[in-house]
Formats: sequence, C-alpha cells, structure tokens
Amino acid sequence: MSEKIDVLVIGAGPAGSVSASMIHQAGYSVRVVEREKFPRFVIGESLLPRCMEVLDDAKFLDAIKAKNFQEKSGAKFMKEDKIADFNFSDQFSKGWTWTWQVQRAEFDLTLITEVEKMGVPVNFETTVTAIEFFEDESSVTTVQRKDGSTEKISARYIVDASGYGRVIPRLFNLDKPSNLDPRKAVFAHVQDKRRNNYDEPNRIIAVMYAPGVWTWIIPFSTGVTSLGFVGSYDFFKTLPESQADQFKTCINGNPYLKKRFGDAEWVFEPRKLEAWSATTDKFYGNGFVLTGNVTEFLDPIFSSGVMFATVSSHTASKLVIRKLKGETLDWDNDYTNFIRQGVDTFRTFVMAWYDGTLEKIFFSKNPDPEIKRQICSVLAGYVWDKNNPYVRDHGTALKRLAKLIDVQEKLSSL
Ligand SMILES: Cc1cc2nc3c(=O)[nH]c(=O)nc-3n(C[C@H](O)[C@H](O)[C@H](O)COP(=O)(O)OP(=O)(O)OC[C@H]3O[C@@H](n4cnc5c(N)ncnc54)[C@H](O)[C@@H]3O)c2cc1C
Repeated sequence: MSEKIDVLVIGAGPAGSVSASMIHQAGYSVRVVEREKFPRFVIGESLLPRCMEVLDDAKFLDAIKAKNFQEKSGAKFMKEDKIADFNFSDQFSKGWTWTWQVQRAEFDLTLITEVEKMGVPVNFETTVTAIEFFEDESSVTTVQRKDGSTEKISARYIVDASGYGRVIPRLFNLDKPSNLDPRKAVFAHVQDKRRNNYDEPNRIIAVMYAPGVWTWIIPFSTGVTSLGFVGSYDFFKTLPESQADQFKTCINGNPYLKKRFGDAEWVFEPRKLEAWSATTDKFYGNGFVLTGNVTEFLDPIFSSGVMFATVSSHTASKLVIRKLKGETLDWDNDYTNFIRQGVDTFRTFVMAWYDGTLEKIFFSKNPDPEIKRQICSVLAGYVWDKNNPYVRDHGTALKRLAKLIDVQEKLSSL
C-alpha cells in the first residue's frame, strides 16, 4: 500500500479537476484516478456563465482561454418562426455574461493538464473497483490499471467525481431513480458550412421539434457544430432503426434543420445516450462526498450539467478542506441543501419545458422585460440568487406567469 494521502479524487472530468485543484491549492496531498485515457469523448458541450466563477477560482481560465473555444453569450429557443432569444448580458443577477461552447474531450484535457502542472499526480486508465471505509473516515481504495495490476490507495477522504460511472452510489447501493421521465438522445458533430446564413454561432439554439422532442445546436469555433435530438422512447420508436437513419430523418423532418444541415457531413457516426437522469440517497457519507453528475443529473435542455459539476465540486472541496483542518461540519445544510436548491430550481424549469409551460412563456407576444431578465439569470445558472423570484418561488412562479399570459391573450383576442 502506498503512503496515505489526504484526498483521493475519483474521475478527471470537470468535477474532479475542480476538486483536485482547490484541495491542492489549500496545501493538502491529492491524487486523481481516472478510468479512461484522455482526451476522451463525453457529451455536455454548452456551458453556463455560473461555472466561470469556479473555473476562475480553480485557476483554469487562462488555459481555457488559450484554446480559443467558441464564446457563448446566450441561449435561443425556436419553434417554427417564433424565437425567444436570451442574452446573458441582460440578466437580473450579477455575474458573468458569457461562457464557452466546448469540445469536451479538449476542454476536460485542458483542465486536468492544469491540475497535473500544479503537481497533482493523475493516473489515467486506472479504475476504482472497491472501497473500504473505516470508522475514522479514512479509506482504502482498490484500483485496477489497464495491464490488470492492482493497487490499494489509502486516503483520509474521498471525492467521488466519477460522473456517469457513479462509483460510490453503485458500490454502496445509494442509487435512487429520478422523478423525471426517461429520455433518449441521438447526436453527432457535423460540418456546419452554412451557419453564417442563419444564426450567429455564439449561443446554443434549442429547436422545439415536436411535442416533447427538441434539438440542440451548439456551434464550435472550428466550423463544426454539435447537433442532437432529444425525445421520449416512444418518439424514437417511430423512426428507422439505425441511429444514422434516425439522425437523418430528424434533420429532414424540420424545414430549418433540413435547410441548414440537410447535406451536412458528420465528423463521427451519430451516437445515442439514454436514461441519464439519476440521483442518490445522500450526497455525502462517512469519509466521502459525491460531486458533479454523481449527485444528480436532470436533463440536457438547459445545459446545466457542467455548471452543477463545477459548482458542487467547488462547494464540496471547501468543506473537505475545513474537514481536514478538523472542523465539525453541517454537511446537510452547507452541501446537500445548497446543491438541492439549485437542482430543484432547474428541475422546475425542465418540467415546465416538457409540459408546455415554458413554451407559453418564451413565445408570448409581449414579454415583460424584467421577467425576461429574471428568467435569463436562471438560464445563466444563477440559481442560488434568492432575490430572483424565479429562483425563490420557482415552484409556483412559472405556472402563475403562464396563467397570466393565458388570460392576457384571451382578453386581447376579444
Ligand atoms: C444528452 C446529453 C447532453 C448534455 N448536454 C450538456 C450540455 O450541453 N451542457 C452541460 O453542461 N452538460 C450537458 N450534459 C451533462 C454533462 O454530460 C455532465 O453533466 C458532465 O459531463 C458532468 O461532469 P462530471 O465531471 O460530473 O462527470 P464526467 O465528465 O462524466 O467525468 C467523470 C469521469 O469519471 C471517470 N470514471 C467513471 N468511473 C470511474 C471509475 N470506476 N474509476 C475511475 N474513474 C472513473 C470517467 O471516465 C469520467 O472521465 C449532457 C448530458 C446528456 C446525457
């Protein structure tokens, strides 16, 4: 067994990199173990401004800037000829007004390379297979390398940032089903040679495709665009069997997409992902904290995944540092409830997207500019600003607004 370290971080995605950087900067010994060889493909390419604060604190911003990723300054929603365009510079909460759209393989490699440059050991192609926790919260983790050899790593604390791998929830049966309907996505990266004829590349576009089905368009700075279709299993059952044919059929089924992408070459064959929503009973336990996707992942519609991954890791790492200093912590209040507040706000928005409430609001004829700024802040990821009524009262505010718009539309049609 190697010498005991302070913190073992599982996973080298954005959540793992943020934790490794923050805990190392505080002067503690950290080691990262990662199952894959980087760069590796992962979905999740459109970021939210709220994650910039964390990337700054983790000292990643200069390295990311040097990569010339596509800057993103807003989000646009389209249904036929109706458009709702949100510009992050016109939002209610104080914060960043822009972020990036990134090829995640390159983005994630950039972050973990910065972590390595700080002097943190990172072991790629090293998979966690077992963990034993002890009463004093320390642990011994068994990892297996690509050549089949194993090692036992002794640590005072574990940050599980293993994303879809869900290492600790799976090993200790903490997984819980999500209360969102299971959905599927078929997507690819495509050459977007006509993008300038249609839209500026500096925002994500979500096209309402059919009831409950939508398309993401995420342009990158290279001229390539990420294009994906999200819908229920029932929707995909109506399409041809192969993912390539499903992708082509979807493009040709919408006039805007057909014109822009009808003859687009793809960079890789269309892929699928399904049933991604998951959560767990608890976000922390004796000797560990879960961060990023391991805690909860809702839905791709508002691009909140990397924002939650980075903000949760940032928050958790500060608590782990206090723990290592010997402080007694209130994990429920300072971590679980904090993260849930943000997740629950987005959950309300996700549900309102799929049940038609947001369609009514986004495409209403005369949107109130102040309300639009408040909703824009949620879309920018500022879901902890309780001065914003669409954060503070998220459970009721959207429904109330949709009803008001209904009444106004009925009155104006009299
Ligand atoms: C269809 C779809 C579209 C999405 N679009 C967006 C979007 O536009 N914007 C956005 O912000 N988010 C999006 N997301 C969400 C995004 O993919 C995730 O939220 C984000 O990648 C989470 O980051 P993470 O660091 O928690 O995990 P990851 O990036 O998944 O990193 C976890 C790492 O842990 C490693 N690991 C796993 N198991 C083990 C093990 N046993 N041992 C060692 N290492 C292990 C993995 O190899 C991986 O590299 C989307 C998700 C889906 C499903």
